[in-house]
Amino acid sequence: MRKQIIAANFKMNKTDEDIKKYFAVFLDLINGLKNRSNLSGLDSDLIFAPPFTSLSGTNKIIKTCRDFIKLSSQNVYYEKSGAYTGEISIDMLASCGCEYTIIGHSERRNIFNESDELIGKKIEAVYKDGRLRPILCVGENLEVRKNDGQEKFVENQLLNALKYVKGTVIKSLIVAYEPVWAIGTGMPIKAEDGEAMHRYIYDYLESGYSISETRVIYGGSVTEKNIEEIMDKPHIDGVLVGGASLDPQSFYNIFRLASNIN
Ligand code: PEP
Repeated sequence: MRKQIIAANFKMNKTDEDIKKYFAVFLDLINGLKNRSNLSGLDSDLIFAPPFTSLSGTNKIIKTCRDFIKLSSQNVYYEKSGAYTGEISIDMLASCGCEYTIIGHSERRNIFNESDELIGKKIEAVYKDGRLRPILCVGENLEVRKNDGQEKFVENQLLNALKYVKGTVIKSLIVAYEPVWAIGTGMPIKAEDGEAMHRYIYDYLESGYSISETRVIYGGSVTEKNIEEIMDKPHIDGVLVGGASLDPQSFYNIFRLASNIN
């Protein structure tokens, strides 16, 4: 069975103080679980992507749960160091305890004009370095979906994102399929349509690359109400949650339902 991934993207929300309060509640809920001691053997990894300012703080807070709670950044730059005001390097992230990084989130692509070329260079740098596992976001907008062009659109995003990776061996890639029209809109994809896209993404990757430990997770208006239906699908390996991850009780409920913990 593939290990599933339940990831929280806090986006530009929460100060350090808010994060402390959040984890006081969240870890209390986790520690109250009957089977708490078994969580390290769980088939899920829980990932948190707080803002850069709280990576170090969060790393300290989760240190007793590092076996199943992991840290991710929301972004990364491909250069090692230098005159890149406002950017952050792989070294900096690894030194804060990050093991994952989100790359190519649709908000980065659409609001900050991140190009396929830039995303390709970030993926290349992360693979060359080897310390961070990339969570590569892809997904079509509503116009493309209305014209039934989502498969080709996402295929093209994957092709571009992976174009600088040397050879065809792609290890530990996490693809987050996040249709833009479903993000923050309260309109998640129908589970069967999500399953079809995830299967397509798997088939595409398998046809061109030698993949191992790949996961394809879904993002877009995931809540505790729809998580079970979504996770029921065989090619959906987990979720990336924005809005509903901001409340510790809601995100805990999502994690519990997704991981079948009672
Ligand atoms: C996201 O931005 O990655 C996301 C999935 O957001 P939301 O859960 O709020 O739709």
